Amino acid sequence: MTTPRTAARLDGIPPTIFSTMSALAVRTGAVNLGQGFPDEDGPPEVIAAAVRALQSGANQYAPGIGTPALRQAVARHQQRHYGLQLDPDSQVVVTTGCTEGIASALLGLVDPGDEVVVLEPYYDSYVAMIQMAGGVRRPVTLRAPDFRLDLDELRAAVTSRTRFVLLNSPHNPTGTVLTRAELEAVAELAVDRDLVVITDEVYEHLTFGTDHVPMATLPGMAERTLTLSSAGKSYSFTGWKVGWATGPASLVGAVLAAKQWLTFTSGAPLQPAVAAALDEHPDFPTTLAAELREKRDLLCDGLEKIGLRGRPPEGTYFATSDITDLGWPDAMAFCLALPERAGVVGIPTQVFYDDPDAGRQLVRWAFCKRREVIEEAVSRLGAADLSYG
Ligand SMILES: *Cc1c(COP(=O)(O)O)cnc(C)c1O
Repeated sequence: MTTPRTAARLDGIPPTIFSTMSALAVRTGAVNLGQGFPDEDGPPEVIAAAVRALQSGANQYAPGIGTPALRQAVARHQQRHYGLQLDPDSQVVVTTGCTEGIASALLGLVDPGDEVVVLEPYYDSYVAMIQMAGGVRRPVTLRAPDFRLDLDELRAAVTSRTRFVLLNSPHNPTGTVLTRAELEAVAELAVDRDLVVITDEVYEHLTFGTDHVPMATLPGMAERTLTLSSAGKSYSFTGWKVGWATGPASLVGAVLAAKQWLTFTSGAPLQPAVAAALDEHPDFPTTLAAELREKRDLLCDGLEKIGLRGRPPEGTYFATSDITDLGWPDAMAFCLALPERAGVVGIPTQVFYDDPDAGRQLVRWAFCKRREVIEEAVSRLGAADLSYG
């Protein structure tokens, strides 16, 4: 028989950089500022709620659309924070993390040949899922050092085949929080060209003094915006994989139509726990953001002192530095050498671009770690010889 091969729909999609870099971290005993997961858990009461759910029989399939309690809690969350009114029975669907929200949205909405305008550097699952859906990505680059949205570039990316804009704000990996003016420009374009906006807002609460404006709150946008979020980032439960998609019933219905054939239903005992998190711990994410802001400063100040320049991020888990001042032409080589040289792992941002030159010199560091871990990383970087060659 001929050797089975991976389907063409996955052509050109490499294994994620995180497997490579995390393996390198383990092998060298390096401090891992690569992958974005916190090293402290979310509220213990929420964990207790999950344990109670496990012990009281919430162990069989939940409804595909999500448990009523969680859908209602998500609707209350959108109302409380943003004044958005949602019908929990038709405008909210629970997903297996935002990752499944992204997959279901793209598989449920994008037809082959449809163009999707998407911010670059990308969150890596966007590339894979647009391609698996048969769509065509049209990148708009957030360029160093400020990583703002270039509105001319945005408008130029829209063609007669464009049907979607896939946004992410607060943006991973750059830490950009789109301003109201930037979002208004996207909204104007969406209305003008009859586009649907799919917006990944998993870092909605993790901003550092800049307000997050949900796209769905802009005039005329609620009816054409599908919003994706998750408990993972807001509540430091990235391993739980409980997310949600909200928006008009037609868009939510498309997500559900695809989701039912992916996972059918998401983790039953975690849904009531996440409902309790949203309802009973509404301030946890704000406290988390304040802690992250201090960690951001600790990391960015430390990096700056050793010649790793970068604009402090406005939100998310991540800071980006430019290695040009250290004399390195390519951050991939730098990141591959760094675990041996300094005992630290960072991610070369170029892997998140179609145009690697736009991110050639950039490294992404996660600061969602305990202070001691960040201090250790900075001190190791400061003590190491980071010069090129
Ligand atoms: C972490 C992350 C996700 C995935 O969220 P899960 O709930 O863990 O699936 C989606 N989008 C962005 C931008 C992220 O950083």
